[in-house]
Amino acid sequence: METFRNYIGGQYVDPASGQWIDSIDPFLNAPWCRIPRSNADDADAAVAAAKAAFDRPEWRGMTATARGKLLRRLGDLVAANAQALAQIEVRDNGKLIQEMLAQLRYIPEWYYYYGGLADKVQGAVIPIDKPDCMTYTQYEPLGVVAAITPWNSPLFLLAWKLAPGLAAGNTFVIKPSEHASASTLAFARLAHEAGFPAGVINVVAGFGTEVGARLVEHPDVAKVAFTGADATGRRINETSARTFKHVTMELGGKSPNIVFADADLDMAAAGVMSGIFAAAGQTCIAGSRLLVERRVHDALLEKVVGLASQAKLGDPSDPETQIGPIANQLQYDKVLSCIAAARQEGAVLALGGGAPGRPGCARGLFVEPTVFSGVHNGMRIAREEVFGPVLVVIPFDGEDEAAHIANDTPYGLAAGVWTRDMGRAIRMVNRIRAGTVWVNTYRAMSYMAPFGGVKQSGLGRESGTEMIKEYLQMKTVWLSTAASGPANAFVMR
Ligand code: NAD
Repeated sequence: METFRNYIGGQYVDPASGQWIDSIDPFLNAPWCRIPRSNADDADAAVAAAKAAFDRPEWRGMTATARGKLLRRLGDLVAANAQALAQIEVRDNGKLIQEMLAQLRYIPEWYYYYGGLADKVQGAVIPIDKPDCMTYTQYEPLGVVAAITPWNSPLFLLAWKLAPGLAAGNTFVIKPSEHASASTLAFARLAHEAGFPAGVINVVAGFGTEVGARLVEHPDVAKVAFTGADATGRRINETSARTFKHVTMELGGKSPNIVFADADLDMAAAGVMSGIFAAAGQTCIAGSRLLVERRVHDALLEKVVGLASQAKLGDPSDPETQIGPIANQLQYDKVLSCIAAARQEGAVLALGGGAPGRPGCARGLFVEPTVFSGVHNGMRIAREEVFGPVLVVIPFDGEDEAAHIANDTPYGLAAGVWTRDMGRAIRMVNRIRAGTVWVNTYRAMSYMAPFGGVKQSGLGRESGTEMIKEYLQMKTVWLSTAASGPANAFVMR
């Protein structure tokens, strides 16, 4: 089995515990590599390395232009190694090879974009209201950032943090998910090859409670950039508050895909499919609640069930496969228990509902594309994030009811609206409380477009030019041009 080691202070190192975690290939349901089981000692060593690197002139004194070049070199290396990184993710995480290749060819854009932005961050001269003063602001990095990522798209979600954070001049300790660390540990080799000074980028793998929690408590960590479940985010936010850390929280969702009767139903059905069954529903933006105007309910349900029943499940390394396995046993058990609970509370199973008895899926952690109708928004299956290929269908009458049901959720990550009436589309956009609303499309993402949630879906945004400021703090500088001291030392100037 291949072994992936931690990367601390520019060195590949074994975990302090001497212990390793077997990482499971969810298609073969068997271990395929091992990753470090790091603990607080590794976290402390990584933070110390990142803190030292932050203060050393190799990084602190590097021009923003030179930092930008390093980021672009890293982007080039990710592009050149896209195939190898994609293959790791397929094995470690059950992700489709087709999706991973597309993702890995797109990830470099974050490094290019923020690499270009690194030397365009400017403060301002303030036309201050005091005589004999010049006052200006400048932006400075925060310090050590702990980037804690989930298993569903490790390198994609890491790029959203690392690219702006490095462009801003911070240093990083990265803690990937214990379920999918291999790609991030392999990525560390590219960061090394790109030529980042030792300690600027560090990676420690292991369990959240054993190594992640220590990073969050650590007094020398200035910011936690987290993507993961809302319950974990809440805990991390509480702990971060004790040492007044900056935080970015990208959490879960229960996003509505709202289809009006005037929509192009074929387009909508395809959008609904991509919203919930791509990546086997294991995406934070999954359009897991289909709200459909009552008079087209049956027609749309029939189209969605027809498309979903044709989806090809199987080996994620086969380019023809459309739905791969669930990424790990814990998540697999959770998805099946959500399906069982939905049946118990009276949801009507329109498709799927279990493990497929199809050839090629015998050993893997597969769940069939599952559709429940007869659902109302108060049911557990309509309120809790499943993070699997499970769609619930809820009928509505008119815009008011659609907006009410869409917003009747603790989450607010994303939403889709399908209509040919642009006035209606904009009215709905304005009423929906979510960080992203797609109109007549779903699941579009870009390094240029800010992304993040409202309510229990998170705090802050990632991507887009403004988000580099999530990794910067402002300093105000006062220069006196006066020839003599203050008239009265005991009065504020
Ligand atoms: P998770 O919250 O279980 O784990 C995320 C990370 O946090 C892992 O690295 C884990 O080891 C670490 N962790 C766990 N406990 C910790 C603790 N006490 N202190 C510090 N670190 C800790 O999430 P997951 O199961 O890996 O991912 C699925 C979740 O992520 C879903 O809820 C999904 O919606 C969410 N997600 C959100 C986005 C987004 O951008 N909003 C994107 C992808 C996934």
